[in-house]
Amino acid sequence: MTVSPVNAIAQTLAHIRQTLPDTVTLIAVTKTVSVEKMRVAYAAGVRDFGESRLQETIDKQALLQDLPDITWHLIGHLQRNKAAKALEHFQWIHSVDSLTLAQRLNSLADRLPLKPSVCLQVKLMPDPSKFGWAGAELLADLPALNDCSNLNIVGLMTIPPYGLAPAVTQSVFNQTRDLSDQIRQQQWSNIQMRHLSMGMSDDYPLAIESGATMIRLGRVLFGDRN
Ligand SMILES: *Cc1c(COP(=O)(O)O)cnc(C)c1O
Repeated sequence: MTVSPVNAIAQTLAHIRQTLPDTVTLIAVTKTVSVEKMRVAYAAGVRDFGESRLQETIDKQALLQDLPDITWHLIGHLQRNKAAKALEHFQWIHSVDSLTLAQRLNSLADRLPLKPSVCLQVKLMPDPSKFGWAGAELLADLPALNDCSNLNIVGLMTIPPYGLAPAVTQSVFNQTRDLSDQIRQQQWSNIQMRHLSMGMSDDYPLAIESGATMIRLGRVLFGDRN
């Protein structure tokens, strides 16, 4: 029997779910993926969708209004001038990558009013193509982040540099976990470290070994992006 692409999405999801611990939430990353394929994932039980671009998300949300129980996760870099719109369209922002962005989101959330869930994006290996805090920079910014009381800061997010050997990727994930442990031990009143958003199609088993609670899967579910 040939497996149609639509069946393939449901079958891959079922297969991956079998291997996931209960503590891990699968976010289906649907940048460039059609709303038809998103409906297939939804029918297979996916409720968490990750998108990188605001306008693409707004367009898709208009077409998926009949699916009201989706949680929308922003996983791409957010420009300050789009922060207000992002708050209106995403319940989670994984890509809070600077103090100025956090403070902007915080004051906008106060006015709306909203309390978005956010992850702080870190890069623990130098990577000019990625945004995010280095470890020491993040530690220095924690007092100011703790003052962002309209943000529900729930964890860290990371994207390892592309093309690393698996052992090196594993060490990046372990360092991210260690940093979140260190922050948790500091017992900030308004910074929780309940989540580690890490792991993509090529490396999610490694991320889970290091304690990921949210994995962000695109190509493994929907095929290569154009
Ligand atoms: C595109 C993207 C993903 C998904 O990557 P795949 O390799 O397709 O699984 C996950 N996280 C972020 C931040 C992304 O931009």
